[in-house]
Amino acid sequence: MPRKFTEGRLILATHNQGKVAEIGRLLSSYVPDVVSAADLGLSEPEETGVTFAENAILKAQAAARESGQIVLADDSGLAVYALGGAPGIYSARWAGIEKNFQKAMREVHDRLGDSSDRSAAFICVLALAWPDGHVETAEGRCEGGIVWPPRGDAGFGYDPFFIPVGADRTFGEMSKDEKQSFSHRASAFSSLIKNCFE
Ligand code: IMP
Repeated sequence: MPRKFTEGRLILATHNQGKVAEIGRLLSSYVPDVVSAADLGLSEPEETGVTFAENAILKAQAAARESGQIVLADDSGLAVYALGGAPGIYSARWAGIEKNFQKAMREVHDRLGDSSDRSAAFICVLALAWPDGHVETAEGRCEGGIVWPPRGDAGFGYDPFFIPVGADRTFGEMSKDEKQSFSHRASAFSSLIKNCFE
């Protein structure tokens, strides 16, 4: 049986205010008060894991230990099958400190060369950690494929060159609601909510 979240306040192990707002909205019916690790001045641990789950768990557990409160962390990225799952946990790093995702998408495209396998998946793992070390995780995946050149300027990151299975447009060409209906993050949240918040 998964452990249930029964507090009034949840800490998010992120320093990204955009994520805080988005996650706050997703959980608004279950948690009245969502605050970020940055608001509490918590430190950001180095992401030394080799899987999405390891990184999500290490971020959530470090902040839960430091704050003595329940913490939610996420880790996500794009896995390209013909590249052995790259960029994977390094998805943000491939864009460099200048966050240049045009460059990151071109890198994926160049590495694929003339490979006919264009399949890929966006993956999101959530970890909910308690101060006593207990942790619950949930994973969401969105299978799809890479197209070149990138299309559309909605969304962020690798959205413009990824088409989910069942669609004929990229995430970069979709409205927020439409992307949400396919998204790895939405599916991870729906399973975490079912397990721990309902
Ligand atoms: P995180 O914030 O450490 O989880 O980094 C995730 C990285 O993966 C982001 O910087 C994006 O590059 C990429 N990523 C994750 N989810 C998406 C998505 O829904 N669309 C596009 N790129 C994504």
